[in-house]
Amino acid sequence: MWAEGGQEFYDPMNNADRIQINCLDHGFAALVDIMPRRVRNGQTVDHAIEEAARVSYQNETRAINTTRGLIRYLMRHTHTTPFEMVEFKFHCSMPITIARQWIRHRTANVNEVSGRYSVMPNKFFTPHPNDIRAQSNKSKQVSEGQCDALTAEEFANYVDRLSIETYGKYEEFIARGVGREQARIVLPPNLYTEWYWKIDLHNLFHFLALRMHSHAQKEIQVYAKGMFQMVKQMCPIAAEAFEDYHHMVGGMKLSRLEIEAIARGDLVASDNAREQAEFIEKMKRLGLCRDGKPLAA
Ligand SMILES: Cc1cc2nc3c(=O)[nH]c(=O)nc-3n(C[C@H](O)[C@H](O)[C@H](O)COP(=O)(O)OP(=O)(O)OC[C@H]3O[C@@H](n4cnc5c(N)ncnc54)[C@H](O)[C@@H]3O)c2cc1C
Repeated sequence: MWAEGGQEFYDPMNNADRIQINCLDHGFAALVDIMPRRVRNGQTVDHAIEEAARVSYQNETRAINTTRGLIRYLMRHTHTTPFEMVEFKFHCSMPITIARQWIRHRTANVNEVSGRYSVMPNKFFTPHPNDIRAQSNKSKQVSEGQCDALTAEEFANYVDRLSIETYGKYEEFIARGVGREQARIVLPPNLYTEWYWKIDLHNLFHFLALRMHSHAQKEIQVYAKGMFQMVKQMCPIAAEAFEDYHHMVGGMKLSRLEIEAIARGDLVASDNAREQAEFIEKMKRLGLCRDGKPLAA
């Protein structure tokens, strides 16, 4: 805490260089900086959102006199730019397979370790045999449940052996004069890479909604969920609103067809099988159907 112009301020990172969570076997996500780094005593980083909103929508927001009320209003009505006034800078290390999913989020600024400039560290992702999932029968994209124990054990051992063997060859070819930029092609995609990743809160919420969701690969969910804990610590009010309203987190999106079906009190919203199944899931969540029948029936 320090004083400036008669006001007290504090560092939301508590003067720490980084706040780190470990992910998977050798990965991490570390918060290394945040904007604002200077917060008035008694406030949270959330107040930077409020400050920006009160400049841009002066008359509209004057009526909402609490920070929480205003931030929740902004989130509900998709007034997104005030959330862009808060920035997070992370240092993260993840397997290349996960980095490929992560890098699709184009709104972040990224600087990744160069395998041309440096020898890549000997760090590979080997899932624990208990975490080796089976291919889903319901969806081609996801895995679920556990693979049988024998296969899982053999798979984990194979991944481990392959990582050791390929890294040995990588080092050997570099020692024999092969350029690093080509030698690295022998390394498998469970190799860890790392980067600095800076993003504003609005786009971070978008990333988190997609990557904490059950449809995202489990391994990237681990990172996203860990990063969300850090966001919660820094911006508890915005994080609460995100959990309450975002349709991929605690909220729900209803189509016109679904709203009409609910108003009619029936369970048919679409003749498309997948859309209809999704509607039934929503009805169950709303407590409006049991055993395939509307509760009102
Ligand atoms: C469960 C899951 C499965 C996926 N499967 C696949 C797959 O099989 N194959 C595949 O290729 N990808 C896949 N993706 C990646 C996905 O299609 C998106 O590329 C990724 O989630 C990034 O989303 P985004 O573009 O909304 O995010 P960001 O790049 O962070 O962009 C945020 C928002 O900014 C806007 N924006 C950013 N850049 C542009 C632009 N150039 N033009 C217009 N608007 C822009 C858009 O509104 C966008 O939603 C998958 C993602 C998930 C979560």
